[in-house]
Amino acid sequence: PRARKAAQGRPQASTMRVTHAERVVDPASGVRKIELIRFYGLMAPLMMPHLKGRPVSIVRAPQGVRGQHFFQKHMEADHIDGLRELDAALWPGHESLLEVVGPPGLLACAQLNVIEFHTWNAVKTTIDKPDRMTFDLDPGEGVQWPMMLQAVELVRVLLGELGLAPFCKTSGGKGLHVVVPLRKGYGWDDVKGFSQAIVRHLAATLPQLFVAKSGPSNRVGRIFIDYLRNGFGATTVSAWSARARPGLGVSVPVAWDEVPHLSGGAHWHLGNIHERLDRGNEPWNGYDRAAKGLAPAMKALGFKP
Ligand code: ATP
Ligand code: MN
Ligand code: MN
Repeated sequence: PRARKAAQGRPQASTMRVTHAERVVDPASGVRKIELIRFYGLMAPLMMPHLKGRPVSIVRAPQGVRGQHFFQKHMEADHIDGLRELDAALWPGHESLLEVVGPPGLLACAQLNVIEFHTWNAVKTTIDKPDRMTFDLDPGEGVQWPMMLQAVELVRVLLGELGLAPFCKTSGGKGLHVVVPLRKGYGWDDVKGFSQAIVRHLAATLPQLFVAKSGPSNRVGRIFIDYLRNGFGATTVSAWSARARPGLGVSVPVAWDEVPHLSGGAHWHLGNIHERLDRGNEPWNGYDRAAKGLAPAMKALGFKP
């Protein structure tokens, strides 16, 4: 009875009704809806620390990976049980932002055809002060994977030289994400401006490898580092989220010494993620402790906030 009381008012995994359990979500891999729901059940303990307290956007694909995708920042028409609306004052002039309601919430979302979860770089209690910086490394047309590995290593070295502590995750798609935990201090404009300065520095120093300008033609044969993930309201796919793409890649936190062994951004996917569960978030141990204030790094790069 105590357990029942504790669970009152929350979506419950044990009682959740799964509809269309056998429907194929991804024809490429043959993964069915029930398998995706089970995946989120397994992932919940690993994934919740990455979602906790963060506004979340979702990608729903009611017709599966090949159908239309709906990117949602707000509840919109139909209420989703697994999500809770945050204080509307967090983003004046907009509908309420959302957060995932604990592990059962993940399952409830999956039941409602949510495939991807994307989070902000700030938590709801300090929405004006980002607690991380994200660099999205995207291979341009014609870029072979070894070049991505070279590029991400250079990003790691530069960030390290600036006194920061970068962590890496696969995107579950084509590229890699480098995440830098920050001690909260600067506001969005300063963090975003500084992230742009870092990307410009890389592109100016190694123009044969990096490009700071967006647009497919600029990117051919080079790696675009997207700093725009660092603005207010911007999101990046959460660690352990599946991707609504053929093969259902998964975004996985990796250790730096593991990066050279990755075969691509979708190295891990629904078909092989079970091999990875025992390692869990261990490659990102020390993430919280590694958070740094940005002042020394800004000074080192000659960036004036
Ligand atoms: P890849 O490694 O393949 O580049 P990725 O996660 O880095 O994968 P995308 O899947 O292209 O890149 O995601 C682009 C970003 O833009 C996501 O982080 C997401 O938060 C945001 N986004 C995606 N779709 C929309 C949309 N329809 N509206 C607004 N923002 C979106
Ligand atoms: Mn990307
Ligand atoms: Mn991108």
